[in-house]
Amino acid sequence: MGAVAELLSRSEPIGSTFAQLLRLTEQRGVRRADTFPAVSCCRDELVADLHSVVEATWGRPFLLGGLGGVPAVGPVGFSTALSHVPVNQGRGAFLVIGASHLGVLGNDVIGASLRKGQREPTSTCGALIAVTDSLHAGDEAPPFGEHELDSLWRLVRSLYPVEVPDVASATEALTKQIDTDLHRFLAAINAHQRHDLIVVSGTILHHHETRFILYRSTFIGESGQPETL
Ligand SMILES: [Zn+2]
Repeated sequence: MGAVAELLSRSEPIGSTFAQLLRLTEQRGVRRADTFPAVSCCRDELVADLHSVVEATWGRPFLLGGLGGVPAVGPVGFSTALSHVPVNQGRGAFLVIGASHLGVLGNDVIGASLRKGQREPTSTCGALIAVTDSLHAGDEAPPFGEHELDSLWRLVRSLYPVEVPDVASATEALTKQIDTDLHRFLAAINAHQRHDLIVVSGTILHHHETRFILYRSTFIGESGQPETL
């Protein structure tokens, strides 16, 4: 199986992922009307399909993310979003979704998308690929002079202190890091003590349609014990 086919085989249409999530959370008694969404994903317009699916299901999300999908805010920003959770009945639920993203073209191009009205593909995620290009070029410090890109550079360097990863590997490593960050910031503010938590992480895959590779989906109730959804 080629690399693009392998990625596609692990993904599903993004609407299916979140329809399934809605079913699973409702089975646990989480009410849609008492669920407040927050999203940490890249600034790229291609990720808007995630925002659309989330908004159509749970309402407008609080935006936590910076370039690459890494949270651009820490515990204070998470705490602000948490304070917006509705509590019509019961504890209310804070749904936090974090994702990296990756463009694929045809059968064998990973890390690119052909955007609306353009003739040539551009890199996706452009921020992450700018970072791996810099590492391939041998830069020993972040060269961008921009806060989010420089932070992403340091993060990828810390994940790969020696080898420079290919784009697909770097993307999946970023997904795991985003998942870790979401859980870390929620734990730092003891968010489960106020509301039920639903934490979902994965990779948005841009192909002919927008797809999602689910990494982890977790429910954390009052006990603070994470349970896989
Ligand atoms: Zn991006």
